[in-house]
Order: sequence, then structure tokens, then C-alpha cells
Amino acid sequence: MERETVLRRRVDIIHEGLKKTANVKVNVESLRQAKIHALLSLGDQKAADVLESAAINGWPSAMKENKAYCDEIVYGEKSPDSPLPWDFLDNRIKKDFLAGEFKKAEREKSSASCPMADCRICKTCM
Ligand code: SF4
Repeated sequence: MERETVLRRRVDIIHEGLKKTANVKVNVESLRQAKIHALLSLGDQKAADVLESAAINGWPSAMKENKAYCDEIVYGEKSPDSPLPWDFLDNRIKKDFLAGEFKKAEREKSSASCPMADCRICKTCM
């Protein structure tokens, strides 16, 4: 995840760019909430300590107490090859496929849409 200052600047650019567009309402999740979501989805066992502290003292205090850990989890560079907390879940989509999509996105390339065909025949992402 990018730092909050970068995200705020990007949100401002989006708001500015769309403010004169009729019938478009930009609704952005709270950046503080996004940071908590990133921590909970990417954290390891130590995230439980942060969660416990947050339940007692609130998130701002818990994040401050565990700043080094939280920053590493939330802002640390991640390789597509790194293990992720949800790797043990079998959602039938291959990690290699997702890593390839991630690399394509970094090059601003898009993929063909899912043909919504019989997955057993298509097998593009599985
Ligand atoms: S296997 Fe093909 S049809 Fe099935 S979800 Fe993946 S891309 Fe879509």
C-alpha cells in the first residue's frame, strides 16, 4: 500500500478531475480504515497483538505502539512470489495467473475479459 500522503494526493487528483463531471460521485474509503484493512489482511500472528491492543486502547494507539511492525506489513514492498496469509485457501485461481496479471498491470497492459465460458474448457485462470 502507498503512504497516506501519496494516496491523499491521488484522491485529490481524482476529485479535482471529476468535480465537473455530471452524475459522478467519488466515494473513497477512509485511508485510515484502508490501513487497518491492509494490516488485518496481510499481517501474521503478531497482528493478533495489534488487534488485541486496538480492542483495548483503540486503533490509533495500537498502530503507534506497534509502528515498526504495522509499517512493515502495510507499506513494505511485496513480491508476487512472497507467501500470503490466504495462500492456503483454494479459490481455484492459480497464483501464477494472478502474479502474471499483476505484472501486466504494472506495465499498464490489460488482459482479455473472462469469456464466461465453461471453466473446464477455458482454464485461463485455473
Ligand atoms: S477459467 Fe476462463 S471462464 Fe473460467 S473464470 Fe477463468 S477466465 Fe473465466
